[in-house]
Amino acid sequence: MTATTAAFAAYIVAGLLFILSLAGLSRHESAKAGNTFGMAGMAIALVATIGLASRSVSALGIGLLAVAVVIGAAIGLWRARQVEMTGMPELIAILHSFVGLAAVLVGWNGYLSVEANLAEQTEVTGSLLGIHSAEVSIGVFIGAVTFTGSIVAFLKLSGRIKSNPLMLPAHNLLNLGALVAFVVLTVVFVLEPSLLILSLLTLIALALGWHLVASIGGGDMPVVVSMLNSYSGWAAAASGFLLGNDLLIITGALVGSSGAYLSYIMCRAMNRSFISVIAGGFGNEGAASTDDRDYGEHTEIDAESVAELLKDASSVVITPGYGMAVAQAQSAVAELTRHLRDKGVDVRFGIHPVAGRLPGHMNVLLAEAKVPYDIVLEMDEINDDLADTDVVLVIGANDTVNPAATEDPSSPIAGMPVLKVWEAERVVVFKRSMNTGYAGVQNPLFFRENSRMLFGDARERVEDILRAL
Ligand code: NDP
Repeated sequence: MTATTAAFAAYIVAGLLFILSLAGLSRHESAKAGNTFGMAGMAIALVATIGLASRSVSALGIGLLAVAVVIGAAIGLWRARQVEMTGMPELIAILHSFVGLAAVLVGWNGYLSVEANLAEQTEVTGSLLGIHSAEVSIGVFIGAVTFTGSIVAFLKLSGRIKSNPLMLPAHNLLNLGALVAFVVLTVVFVLEPSLLILSLLTLIALALGWHLVASIGGGDMPVVVSMLNSYSGWAAAASGFLLGNDLLIITGALVGSSGAYLSYIMCRAMNRSFISVIAGGFGNEGAASTDDRDYGEHTEIDAESVAELLKDASSVVITPGYGMAVAQAQSAVAELTRHLRDKGVDVRFGIHPVAGRLPGHMNVLLAEAKVPYDIVLEMDEINDDLADTDVVLVIGANDTVNPAATEDPSSPIAGMPVLKVWEAERVVVFKRSMNTGYAGVQNPLFFRENSRMLFGDARERVEDILRAL
C-alpha cells in the first residue's frame, strides 16, 4: 500500500468516526462517546494530512506545520479548561470565526499561488482556471460572511455590544444588493481573475456577514449560532475543494448540513421563519424594543414566605433559565427538589428549548446536579399542566416566560412560544433586579397579581428557602 492510499484509507476511517460522533452527540447518554469518536477522527485526520503533506513539503514547511499545530492545540486546551459553562456560546462563536478566516486565507492563497502559475499555461487549463476562480470566489465569500458574522455573534453573546437588532433603513435591500454584487463580481472574476475584484468581493462579504448578524434580535440568537455553525461547515468544505482535500469536503458538508438542520429545528421550536433568520431578519421591520409602558407595581416576597408557600403546595413546577447557570444554583435547586419530593410534593421541571445560552444548557446542568430525567419535561409537555399547578418557581429565567411573546404582537419576541407560568396559582420569580432578559424586552409577568419577586442571587435564595423549610 502506498503512502497516498494509506492516507486516503485513514480519511475514510476519520470520516466514519465523524459521522459516529454526530450520531453520539445527538443523545445525552451517548454524548461522551460521541466526543471520543470526534477526537479520534480528528487525531487520525491530522496524522494522515501531515503524512501526505510531508511528501511534497520541505522539512522547514513540516516544522512550521508542527509548530502551528502545537500552538493551536495549546490555546484550544487552555481556553476549553478555562471557559465557564455560561461562556460556551461565545467561545463557539469565536471558533466559528476562525474557520471563516481560514477559508478566506485558503481562498486568497489559492488565488495568489495557483492562479498566477495557471494563467501562463495552455487553453485546457483555461477552463480549469475558470472552475478554480469560482471555487476561490465562493470559498472567500462564505468564509468572510462567517468570519464577521461570528465576530458580531461573539460580541452580542458576551454582552460587549447590545443584542437589539440593528435596523438600517432598507436593510433587506442592502443584503440583496450585496448578494447581487457577489454574483456579478464572481462572473467577472471567473472571466478575468484580478486582485481588485477579489478584494472588492472580500470586502462586500465581510460587510454582509457583519450586517446579517447585527440585524438579528437577541431572541433569535440561538438560531444564529447554529446557522453560523452551518456556514463554518460550508466554508470548510469550500476550502476542501480548493485544497483538493476530500476529508475537509466530507467534514465541512457534515457540519454544514447538520448545522442547517439544527437551525431549522430551532426555528420551528421558536415559531420563526428559517428564511427570515438566514436572510438577516428578512421581513422583520424592527419592532420597538424600548418599552416605556407602565405595567404597575411589582410585589416582593422573602425566602421564608416562599418556604411557607411550598409547604402548602401539592404541585410545583420549576422553570430554570440563564440566571440559574450564572448563579450555579443547580445543586441547591436539586436539593430543594429532593426535599419537596420527600414530603410528597409533585415537583417537575419545565424546560424551554432556548433557555440559557446553549441548546440543552438547562438539561446538562440538571443532569450534573442529579435531578432525575423523568421529572425534567420539555415546554410542550408541561405547558398544558401549568394552569393546574400550585406554585411555579422561575429560577433566573426571563425571556422564556414572557407573556408578551404570546399577548403583544408589537413585541420583538412576538410569536415565540413561551412557558405559560402566569397560568399557575402562584409564581415566584428569582432574579437580582428588575432588569430585562437577553432580548432586552420588559416582562409583564413580574407585575401580574399572582407573581412575587424574590430578589437576590438565585443560589443564595434557594439555600435560604431550604434553611427555612
Ligand atoms: P434570560 O437571559 O432572558 O434572563 C436571565 C435572567 O436571569 C435575567 O433576567 C437576570 O436578571 C437573571 N439572573 C442573572 N444572573 C442571576 C443570578 N445570579 N441570580 C438570579 N437571577 C439571575 O434567560 P432565559 O433562559 O429565560 O432566556 C434565554 C435567552 O437567551 C433567550 O432570549 C434566548 O433566545 C437567548 N439565547 C439562547 C441561546 C440558546 O441556545 N439557549 C443562545 C443565545 C441566546 P437579573 O439581572 O435581574 O438578575
